[in-house]
Amino acid sequence: MTNCLCYGAHEARADLTPLRIERRALRDDDVAIDIAYCGVCHTDVHFAHNDWGSTVFPCVPGHEIVGHVTAVGRAVSRYKVGDRVAVGCLVDSCQQCAACEAGEEPHCQHGTTPTYNGRDRVSGANTHGGYSQHIVVREKFVLRVPQHLDLRFTGPLLCAGITVWSPLREHNVGEGTRLAVVGLGGLGHMAVKLAVALGAEVTVVTTSPGKADDARALGAHHVLLSTDPQAMAGAVNAFDLILDTIPRKHNVNPYLMLLGRHGKLVLVGALEPLEPIHGALLARNNRSISGSLIGGLAQTQELLDFCAERQVLPQCEMIDIQDINTAFERMERNDVKYRFVIDMASLNGA
Ligand code: NAP
Ligand code: ZN
Repeated sequence: MTNCLCYGAHEARADLTPLRIERRALRDDDVAIDIAYCGVCHTDVHFAHNDWGSTVFPCVPGHEIVGHVTAVGRAVSRYKVGDRVAVGCLVDSCQQCAACEAGEEPHCQHGTTPTYNGRDRVSGANTHGGYSQHIVVREKFVLRVPQHLDLRFTGPLLCAGITVWSPLREHNVGEGTRLAVVGLGGLGHMAVKLAVALGAEVTVVTTSPGKADDARALGAHHVLLSTDPQAMAGAVNAFDLILDTIPRKHNVNPYLMLLGRHGKLVLVGALEPLEPIHGALLARNNRSISGSLIGGLAQTQELLDFCAERQVLPQCEMIDIQDINTAFERMERNDVKYRFVIDMASLNGA
């Protein structure tokens, strides 16, 4: 066991403060990682605040982890000390069910082990995330950071990036796809960049008039203000696919109306009850709604390789760990452009 300095929450809605945890001794198939950077996801805010009623305290968030390998277990074959690696939202799954065999680890039939607020499959201990000096992770769940991917910008790909990449690939987004991205935040801005790189015609649907220039700078072809009823009426039937990243309960009906024939709305943001959906809006145009949960390990590696090759990088605001509570407040006020990334070197001064 090694002692590890972290930042975490001791109770709901309390500030995150420095705390110490134990990281397990290396198992044969484990990799020890010194964390260089960790992205800040809106999910971290949800868990720290116990929004979903399932948080085990103390809670050390963080599932957009990048760093260097410092040690490997005896059976590890893919990594060696010094390698640049990354860890996303999951650190284990059964590895035997149909979902795991299909590379869809987030849908493991026996339940996944999330990077934080999960139960370790061997010891039963609560898992702790990347707002920390180091972490120990099963080799299978460690990803390789390609040579030409800047570590500072890699973290947000592990959750924000893969969560939108997965439905973009699932629905074959490419040239000719008319895609709308609802919500220009961490997930949304990655969706814009990735979909543009895939050749789609991309519209940002936003509640923030002030984000229009940014949206275009990120590569979006059009911007639609969702608070402008006339503009929304003008966009009825205009899209093949909508990625909805709104982080809380909302009314999907105004967005459903924007889908053309056989159009699909994929929910990735609000993992909670929605306002009632009007059946007639689904029937018209044979529209459908589906959801999507992060992505499998192979697909995450595919995303890292794609981003390295095409130099598709998130837009990050670097912060010190000491600024994490302000960062959470700013995310709740919708004031982040477009992903906070913690420079973990700052933790040494905590
Ligand atoms: P974020 O950076 O805070 O961005 C969310 C964006 O949604 C905001 O920038 C804002 O964009 C828009 N928005 C916020 N409140 C809204 C409201 N009340 N009505 C309409 N639009 C609103 O959050 P994020 O990190 O991208 O995460 C988004 C959600 O995805 C979170 O709930 C998170 O838990 C969830 N998530 C899901 C998965 C998954 O596997 N499905 C993975 C990661 C995260 P505009 O200013 O442009 O309107
Ligand atoms: Zn996340």
